[in-house]
Amino acid sequence: MSNLSAPHFHNEEAAYAYVEARIWPQGAVCPRCGTMDRIGKLGGKSTRVGTYKCYECRKPFTVKIGSIFEDSKVPMRLWLQAMYLIAGSKKGISSNQLHRILGVTLKTAWFMSHRICEAMRSNDMTPFGGNGGAVEVDETFIGQLKGVPKRRAFQHKMKVLALIDRDTRQARTMAIDDVNAKTLMPLVIANVAEEARVMTDEHSGYRDVKHIFAAHGTTSHGRGEYVNLEARSIHSNTVEGYFSIFKRGMKGIYQHCGEQHLHRYLAEYELRYNNRIGLGIGDTERSDRLLMGVVGKRLTNETASARA
Ligand SMILES: [Zn+2]
Repeated sequence: MSNLSAPHFHNEEAAYAYVEARIWPQGAVCPRCGTMDRIGKLGGKSTRVGTYKCYECRKPFTVKIGSIFEDSKVPMRLWLQAMYLIAGSKKGISSNQLHRILGVTLKTAWFMSHRICEAMRSNDMTPFGGNGGAVEVDETFIGQLKGVPKRRAFQHKMKVLALIDRDTRQARTMAIDDVNAKTLMPLVIANVAEEARVMTDEHSGYRDVKHIFAAHGTTSHGRGEYVNLEARSIHSNTVEGYFSIFKRGMKGIYQHCGEQHLHRYLAEYELRYNNRIGLGIGDTERSDRLLMGVVGKRLTNETASARA
C-alpha cells in the first residue's frame, strides 16, 4: 500500500482526526479560554467536520483556529497532502507543481506553500556548539535585490548566513542585509555558545571571533585552501555543501524568489535538512514534525491579502 493511500489524505474526518491527535495530544483545547474540561464535539449533519463547542465561552471552534489553516477553505486532507509532498521532496515543490498535483488553483497553491513554509520556521534558539564542538559559519549571495542595479560585487544580491553544528548535524540559516562584522557578529554571538570552535573562511567580518569563542579556525578560499592543512578539522565544507543544495533548489524551482519570501524558503530547506533521512527521519515523521509547526503562525499581511 502506498503512503499516499492513508485515509487522512482522502477523508476529511480522518484528516481532522490526524491533525487533532498531533496538535491536541491530551484532547481538544479551547483556543479562547484554554479549557479542556467543558468541551463537547458537535455532531449533526449540518455541522462542519471537526467542530467542538466550549461550554465556558459558549463558542464553537476547530483545530484550525490559531494555526496556518485558519481562515482557509482548503480541505484539511489537501493541506496534509501538500505538507507531505513538501516535506518529502529534497529540493522543494513549486506552487505550480502543487497546483497541478492537488488540483487547486495556482493562487491557492501559492497561498498553501507560503503558509506551509511559515510553519517550517524553527523557534529553537539553543546556541550551537554548546558541548565545545565545531560550528561552521559562512555567508552566501543569491538571486537579486529589486531596484538595485547589477554590479560586479554582491551589493545587488540577497545575502544569507548559515551556521552548522557539526556534532548535532543541524543547520540554522537567516537572511541578512549585509556581510560586515557589524551585521555578522551579533548573529554569530546569539547563535553560537562561547565554548564552541568556530570555523569560517578568512572574511574580515569574522575577525573578532577569536576573541569571543574558544577557538577560531579559518581556511583561505582566496588561496584555494578548503581544508586547513595543519589541522584537517578546520574547514567549512559542510556549510558550503548546504549552500550548494539550497542554491540548486532555488535555481530550478523558485526562480522568482523575492526578498520578502527568502526567509520562508530558508526555513523550508532548514527543516528538511535538520530532519533528513541521514539522521534517521523518514518522510512521514518529517511531515508530522512540520505539522507540529502549524500552531501559532497563522497570519502575515502578505499572505492575508491572498486568502484562499
Ligand atoms: Zn473556551
